[in-house]
Amino acid sequence: MPANGKTFVVEHLDPELEEWSSLEYSSIAAECHDSGARFLLSSVPTSLKLPERLQQAQGLAVETRGIEEIYADQKDKVCLLDPAASKDLSPDDGDTFDIFLFGGILGDDPPRDRTSELRKKGYHGRRLGPVQMTTDTAVRVTRMVVQDRVAVDKIPYVDHPELKVSKNESTEMPFRYVIGKDGQPIMPEGMVDLIKHDSEKGLGDLL
Ligand code: SAM
Repeated sequence: MPANGKTFVVEHLDPELEEWSSLEYSSIAAECHDSGARFLLSSVPTSLKLPERLQQAQGLAVETRGIEEIYADQKDKVCLLDPAASKDLSPDDGDTFDIFLFGGILGDDPPRDRTSELRKKGYHGRRLGPVQMTTDTAVRVTRMVVQDRVAVDKIPYVDHPELKVSKNESTEMPFRYVIGKDGQPIMPEGMVDLIKHDSEKGLGDLL
């Protein structure tokens, strides 16, 4: 049992593991580890070889089984973070739920509602406000709400920030991010460089 009793589960829903997801998962692992929570990456295909960086991430447990099998006897303790849920997550939900479940999918614009793959399993659902977040942001916000007991609408956010990708070009990220102490959107280490690199190939292909 982790120090604060909370487990954050990302159910990996893609057959492959994109570099974007890999950076997001590394960042979730590091932050969960630092805050005494547990991070479980579930439903990882046996054929998928995780990059070295993720294999060595402290605080990350990897499971080939899916959420339904792992927590078959604790379904009522699982909360799915779902952009389509009718109720927003509240600090009191930290007293009700022990396991917080997220879709391990890259965001898309417009959103394709792939979280529905988890919704149809029948878990209690909570929303993190009306704007789509990246998976690492969704986990970060959930930790702030249930561990630090900050109301979801009191967290400082920036929506759809512009990122300068070259001297003359910038790209708009179609997500909501938490604002860090430096006033910038919090993104996983290496993400800005990856975005710059990928923008040369066309960001549209990746979303
Ligand atoms: N467009 C995506 C979809 O198809 O559902 C959203 C995916 S989002 C990048 C990855 C995960 O973060 C979602 O499956 C959900 O668990 C969580 N998430 C992101 N934004 C959220 C929000 N506003 N409310 C609740 N959960 C959210």
